[in-house]
Amino acid sequence: MADAGAADGAWPEERIQVAQTPWLSAPWAQFLALQQAGRLPHGLLITGARGLGLMSLARRIMAYSLCQSPITTPGAEGACQVCPACRLRLAGTHPDILQLLGSGSASGISIDDIRALIDAFSLTRYGPLRIALIEQAERMNRNAANSLLKLLEEPPAGSLFLLTAERADLLPATIRSRVQRLVVTMPTRPVMVRWLCDTQGVTEADAQMLWFMGEEQLISGQLPAWDWMAATQAWVALNEGHSGVLATVKCWQNIPRDTLARWLLRLWVEVMRVQSGLASEAPSQLAPLIGQLSRHDTQAHWLKCHPVLLEFLQTASHPLNDELALERLALDLTDPSLPARLA
Ligand SMILES: [Zn+2]
Repeated sequence: MADAGAADGAWPEERIQVAQTPWLSAPWAQFLALQQAGRLPHGLLITGARGLGLMSLARRIMAYSLCQSPITTPGAEGACQVCPACRLRLAGTHPDILQLLGSGSASGISIDDIRALIDAFSLTRYGPLRIALIEQAERMNRNAANSLLKLLEEPPAGSLFLLTAERADLLPATIRSRVQRLVVTMPTRPVMVRWLCDTQGVTEADAQMLWFMGEEQLISGQLPAWDWMAATQAWVALNEGHSGVLATVKCWQNIPRDTLARWLLRLWVEVMRVQSGLASEAPSQLAPLIGQLSRHDTQAHWLKCHPVLLEFLQTASHPLNDELALERLALDLTDPSLPARLA
């Protein structure tokens, strides 16, 4: 899964620019302060939610650290992009860059991956610093983590271990105690919406929708191809008896079951919010439909819908017939007390 040798391929284009991203400025400043004070530790762990640009920050730290004449003007700190080290990095051939990438790869990080990393550390360095970047370090299995721990306990001279993790709590405490943490915190809704509009070319309405949809969509900065309005309208029509189960099934069939399950659960949360008198987070195009859903049934009904939706999500990957699974879902949502459900 991973390439523990020199960087493969050219340096990636960043969708998230650290300098333009408010929630990355604090951890970036923290790194600069450590670096400028000569107190940079051997291990840095960047933690935060997916989609917030942990890797963009890691690569900026890497670029700055390897650069032979970094820009140090306050507020404009960064790699020069023209020195020999920067040119090697941009070409993807800097010998002091070691990477264990593979975001989203199911196979995790094995002891062989870490061993390859250790082997690479025995080679002669090109510059004064060698950097090992490990993406989603929590994917390490126990043996891999133990192996990395030995490296962190006695780091080779001139080495920097740069780890990213969405779930730092899944890393062994022994590793966490060996690295300094840079925390990327979730921005507020207005900050994120403004950032999407200003830097990602997204309209205000779409940005609000992306925020509502959550993590997966925020990462891509693009609205999904499936029709969330139609899916929501189908639920409203089903509830209000305007359309039968079959019409709803027909609409929902166009959406992957897992995606549909997450969307319906997201709507469910919003309905519960409205019914509890809390402010809804729904964007304006969706708010009327949420209103219709929450007005139509009692809270007792909606509470019963929750296990139905969770069960649907849990079985979303089962090779059931789509039509049957959706038909059952629609029936269960119409009347979650149906004995058929409980059987
Ligand atoms: Zn440079």
